[in-house]
Amino acid sequence: MNKTLTNAVWKMRMQDDCLAGFEVNASLIPSGGTSYQLYIPSKGCHNACVFCNYGFKHPVRQEEILKKVEHICRYLPSNIETLILESSGSFLDDRELPEELQYKIMEIVAKTKVYRVQFETHYKTVTEKKLNKILQILKGHELAFEFGLESTNEKTLSIYNKDINVKEFFKLVQHCQNLGIEASLNVLVGAPLLTIKEQVQDALDTVEDILQNCPKSTDIVLFPINIKDYTLLKHMYNQGRYSIISHWEFVDVLTQIPRNALDRVYISWWGNRVNEFHGKDAIIHPQACENCHHVLMNFYNSFVNASSLEDKQKAVKEISKVNCSCRMAYEKEKSTQKCNKTISQRLSDEIMKLENEFF
Ligand code: SF4
Ligand SMILES: [Zn+2]
Repeated sequence: MNKTLTNAVWKMRMQDDCLAGFEVNASLIPSGGTSYQLYIPSKGCHNACVFCNYGFKHPVRQEEILKKVEHICRYLPSNIETLILESSGSFLDDRELPEELQYKIMEIVAKTKVYRVQFETHYKTVTEKKLNKILQILKGHELAFEFGLESTNEKTLSIYNKDINVKEFFKLVQHCQNLGIEASLNVLVGAPLLTIKEQVQDALDTVEDILQNCPKSTDIVLFPINIKDYTLLKHMYNQGRYSIISHWEFVDVLTQIPRNALDRVYISWWGNRVNEFHGKDAIIHPQACENCHHVLMNFYNSFVNASSLEDKQKAVKEISKVNCSCRMAYEKEKSTQKCNKTISQRLSDEIMKLENEFF
């Protein structure tokens, strides 16, 4: 992780005092279909990815959290199949949530009839000890991890300031699979400092790397970047050095993924998320014009609710035929946008600007 990027990310995060004084407790959030997220307010992530603002500092009120989790698990919705355990970063990070609290929450969840339990966590928090505990406590449940990979390109990961060693990451995914635990990998579309063409290629290369290097049961979740308040990305956007991506860029990626792999591909944060603490303007979603907005939303919904590979292929085929002036503008920008500097040069330039702006 780069020191300037990390410090700048933290300067942005520290401006957020929206949660000061709030008694935030565990909550159950529907995430589509039969999946629900069990959100546990934690101390926040200590990493500093440029697009993320999960670094705030809630006090962790263990007793209250456990009482609330007991209550939520007693009254789970009848259609629930998957429960995703998540915090403000990594559920299995002992710095965020005390280790004992993690196990106690797992024990409560183990008593429910939830079929699949998924952990949202940084891959470095998955130790042998944690794996053994999970397998022991949640025996009988289908298990999975959700990891933020974002990209397999080292340069893109440096732009994101993301602490990942791709080789080690894939090794862990395979190890988990050998233990019977599946993985779902998040991939971001829209890295700053890249041209549109490079952003699209980066996402497609990452999907290809996952298809080549991970077990067949590994899912891929594509996210178009959203610009969130109190992130370094928001600062770059405010300075005119980053533009929010077009919905058509996200569609561009989806339509170029090998069609027979689409059953492993899911989408998230396509423009349907709001920030419950900061209000609806705290997140800038991908953009399109008013004429095609509803077509795009229908497409996303059909993709998310598709129950077979054929349904996903059909949804992708249909959206690829849709035309709109804003789609044409996107295509034109993609084909004409040029940058003569190498990605490393662009990153050094950006770091210099941030040094002037922040320190
Ligand atoms: S993206 Fe994940 S690892 Fe990065 S700062 Fe956010 S929560 Fe932490
Ligand atoms: Zn349009």
